[in-house]
Amino acid sequence: MDTGLRYRYCRWCRTPTDAGRLLCPACGADDLAEAGSTGGGTIRRFLPTASARQRRQLCVIRLDEGFTLRGALLGVLPGAVSLGAAVRRTAAAPGRDPAFVLVPEQSR
Ligand SMILES: [Zn+2]
Repeated sequence: MDTGLRYRYCRWCRTPTDAGRLLCPACGADDLAEAGSTGGGTIRRFLPTASARQRRQLCVIRLDEGFTLRGALLGVLPGAVSLGAAVRRTAAAPGRDPAFVLVPEQSR
């Protein structure tokens, strides 16, 4: 499935980084390759936001490929989710941040 999430990785040291980077954050090489993410990841940090009415929480998500991005977690009440919870990419939702939903624990 094409999740629409792109990232880059260093051809020299394989360090993953976000798609906006031009230099490897680990070794400084400018030889970065682009790849697509599977869209699975975990919550690393919550960002201040949010209206309970919209049931969305902005957070920093670390993708399984090892890079992080800012995403909107949908269908949750702020404060009702814990750090480290598994999420996956979902279809685009209104707003400019990539949208994610929680993955039920039994399906991981
Ligand atoms: Zn590197």
